[in-house]
Amino acid sequence: MIHQYKLNGYNLVLDVDSGGVHVVDDLVYDIIALFENKLTDEIVRELSLRWSPNEIRDAIEDVKALVDAGTLFSQAQHQERLRSRETGSDPVIKALCLNVAHTCNLNCCYCFASQGTYKGEQAIMPLSTGKRAMDFLVEKSGTRRNLEVDFFGGEPLLNWEMVKDTVAYARSLEEIHNKHFRFTITTNGLLIDDDVIEFTNREMDNVVLSLDGRKEVHNRFRVTKSGAGCYDIVVPKFQELVRRRTRGTYYVRGTYTHFNTDFLEDIIHMADLGFDELSMEPVVCPPDEPYALTASDMPILKEQYELLAKEMIARDREGRGFRFYHFTMDLDHGPCIYKRVAGCGSGTEYLAVTPIGEIYPCHQLVDNRDFLMGNLWDGITRTDLQDDFSQCNVFAREACRDCWAKLYCSGGCAANAYHVSGSLLGVDSYGCELFKKRIECALMTKAAQAIGDTNSHNYK
Ligand code: SF4
Ligand code: SF4
Repeated sequence: MIHQYKLNGYNLVLDVDSGGVHVVDDLVYDIIALFENKLTDEIVRELSLRWSPNEIRDAIEDVKALVDAGTLFSQAQHQERLRSRETGSDPVIKALCLNVAHTCNLNCCYCFASQGTYKGEQAIMPLSTGKRAMDFLVEKSGTRRNLEVDFFGGEPLLNWEMVKDTVAYARSLEEIHNKHFRFTITTNGLLIDDDVIEFTNREMDNVVLSLDGRKEVHNRFRVTKSGAGCYDIVVPKFQELVRRRTRGTYYVRGTYTHFNTDFLEDIIHMADLGFDELSMEPVVCPPDEPYALTASDMPILKEQYELLAKEMIARDREGRGFRFYHFTMDLDHGPCIYKRVAGCGSGTEYLAVTPIGEIYPCHQLVDNRDFLMGNLWDGITRTDLQDDFSQCNVFAREACRDCWAKLYCSGGCAANAYHVSGSLLGVDSYGCELFKKRIECALMTKAAQAIGDTNSHNYK
């Protein structure tokens, strides 16, 4: 399967199965559109108003060379390879999301976690449960050495001493079991202080900082319990944390809604604050919320991604580039094909743990007891759920089978699909449309950088 599109003056052709991306001229672009269903003479006839027969025949030979090289109209048996991988052993668990605090010091109106409580009681994870989670991960990780732990909430800094002690405990297990823990923490920033900055720099491989962009945009939703926007409190703390970060990564992560469909302004604002690792995600919420994205927002959002891509190319050229998480892809060394088709591993390789040690497939499903899979002491008792999640891949989803983006999105987020369609095997079609636009922009950006683009201009 191929996907071809024009963007920012480039004619791009993605060969889906091989992952090959070609930037081609107008003639080759038109030939590729006809190549599968027409004979050479028919193609020559059809295109002869714009090009000479010799030009067309030469270009057809070029296209055939790409086909012979396996980078155009290639066909790979990814489904067969996935099946052979599925048979046999229990899933190895590689990552845990520890919800160390089901409570929060903010009161964000769009919070998917019901202001940190996940529709339940406020709760804080005790150290004993954190330690048990580390033991559980070591026990279930087989021979895998690198293990991921995300400290999440609510707001994890409300349980900061426990986070530090859990990290220390995990480190004490590393040499004994030949494991290496990689830690991430996601914070709203309110409680960042010197201790947090110093410790996260030393121990956390990644820090995720929640910021929605411009002050008025951030303060619309991200408010304290008294209703005051927290922009002025958190921005200087985020800047200080990033300034003193000497190892590991960070990213500043925002959410856009119906109220800031011009979210490029927010990304630029964050870049101008000095942050160069950025992410901005569409809000996921019931459609009747006033801030829910609408069908009429879609063309605006797509244009924003295109303008963002052009801005990134321009800034990159000026030596003040930034990375946008959703445009980050390694075309040569991307995820292995198993990960590409099977997704994030929720419910199998990746699990979420509540403050009382209950296990769910993913942090986005912690509010639904239908997805309670077991606990840290008895292990996974709902193996049927584990089976359901292991089937969540692009080949199981009807809508994904013929989608050109399937090897980039891995079938999308199972939790989003469930929330939108009521089924783990459904799709969030609105999210799909945005996702596909992001991939188109990402591929164009990569192509432009690879060929040393000089055509892009700043978006204003
Ligand atoms: S900081 Fe996070 S957990 Fe707390 S209310 Fe806001 S979105 Fe929810
Ligand atoms: S973009 Fe949507 S339809 Fe396409 S593979 Fe991803 S989830 Fe499936």
